[in-house]
Amino acid sequence: MISLHGCGALRYDADPFVVRVTTNANRPYVVRDKEALLCQSPEDISRPGFRCFLAPSFLLPVEAEVPARVLELPAELTHLEDGDVIRCDPRTGEIFVTYRLRSTANTLLLTETCNNKCIMCCQPPKSGNDDYLASVALDTLRLMDRSTTEIGVSGGEPTLKWDVLLKVLRTAKGYLPDTAIQLLSNGRVFKYLSRAQELAAIRHPRLIVGVPLNSATPEVHDYIVQRRGVFDETILGIMNLKRKR
Ligand code: SF4
Repeated sequence: MISLHGCGALRYDADPFVVRVTTNANRPYVVRDKEALLCQSPEDISRPGFRCFLAPSFLLPVEAEVPARVLELPAELTHLEDGDVIRCDPRTGEIFVTYRLRSTANTLLLTETCNNKCIMCCQPPKSGNDDYLASVALDTLRLMDRSTTEIGVSGGEPTLKWDVLLKVLRTAKGYLPDTAIQLLSNGRVFKYLSRAQELAAIRHPRLIVGVPLNSATPEVHDYIVQRRGVFDETILGIMNLKRKR
């Protein structure tokens, strides 16, 4: 299994940011601020303009001070390649992979909250403020490669961040016009026809909304999602989506 998170030993004082990975030390200056240079030699660590440098431990100076904006490449993330996108937290040395160019299973996580509580949920809903996920998703989207065939948009329940969701879909339409979007939702919000209408108004040419119905029997569906009355909301949501597609 490929690891999507790692933590190196180096730290510096800066807010977390999202960058694209490159191994090309000669990238145009205009894009370097959005990129992390994956260093291939000790000289790479001092190239100007890059947002940060990812250096395996064997490239780090042993006696001299480590230059600014250098993060150690964790052993778990040596699979990183050109075009991948990562979120770096320099204060903790953590690196999270938010997009892999080679993968066909990239997903933007908009929230970890949900209004269901399914018994089989592999990612049980969390409470608390996770607003930062919106900017991570948008920054990641803007750095994805145009050849990306499809991306998922998920949660938690992504429609709980309604304004963020609409912004993500509009941004995707602008930046990645040929990329299919699969929005995974429990569908409850679409019991409001106006929500289905707003979604349809984006006119994304390749948007699919995937709504799981856990049973044809209302009681069973409601038991699985651990909420009473949700079967009816979900069915109404699916019908409204169909109406406004
Ligand atoms: S709707 Fe999805 S995210 Fe929410 S509890 Fe169910 S499986 Fe988990």
